[in-house]
Amino acid sequence: MTRKLSKAELSCSECGVRNCRNREASFPAFCLSQTDPQGAAETRELYAGDGPEGKLARTAAAIEGEFYGRLTRVEETILFARRMGVKKLGIAACLGLSDESALFAKIVWTAGITPRTVICKVGAIDKSEIGIPERLKVSPGRNESCCNPVLQAKALNDWGAELNVMVGLCVGHDALFSGHSRAPVVTLIAKDRVLAHNPAAALYASNFYYRRVLDAASFPSPRPSPKKASPADHD
Ligand code: SF4
Repeated sequence: MTRKLSKAELSCSECGVRNCRNREASFPAFCLSQTDPQGAAETRELYAGDGPEGKLARTAAAIEGEFYGRLTRVEETILFARRMGVKKLGIAACLGLSDESALFAKIVWTAGITPRTVICKVGAIDKSEIGIPERLKVSPGRNESCCNPVLQAKALNDWGAELNVMVGLCVGHDALFSGHSRAPVVTLIAKDRVLAHNPAAALYASNFYYRRVLDAASFPSPRPSPKKASPADHD
């Protein structure tokens, strides 16, 4: 059940006009386009300027304009990298998407760009070493390395990546990677272990199969007891 929001709580999600797209109507009173004119002016200057933000913003906008609805995200990523003049492209990949990241690396090579992949388990630090109790491992009783997005970022920083692409990093680990990456970061695949890496499906199905997403109280409970060590691998 959604509660009624106060005026101060209104933001773009509650906007009924979306006037920021074409400016053919009026902005709602809470719209930042109106309430923060300085922010709009400063960012306009940033994107129109010669700094990295300008190059990133204009390259992305040009690709959108030239290829709208005609390129897959893989193709858009390659084209974006080429137009940005990227020679070294880092791939921060989830172990569970090793095949996908290897395939993507092949595509990057084919495009004349040098890729380097760093898998999330790099460093091989057991979860117990960072304070995770054994019972919270997916498979208690065996080594279970934690994801190491900071080392992924460091390795790609040290290598001199000019653009980093995330392939299936977990929720939260993607935040750590983005925060520590020196190069700009784009997402190729957002991990969703349930929906085959298509997180938007939970939103599209929220009126029926995934109604539970609208009620946090009905989310599945944590598993009741630790599972036995399993020979099956996971990520
Ligand atoms: S930026 Fe303004 S016009 Fe655009 S969606 Fe947000 S509130 Fe609406």
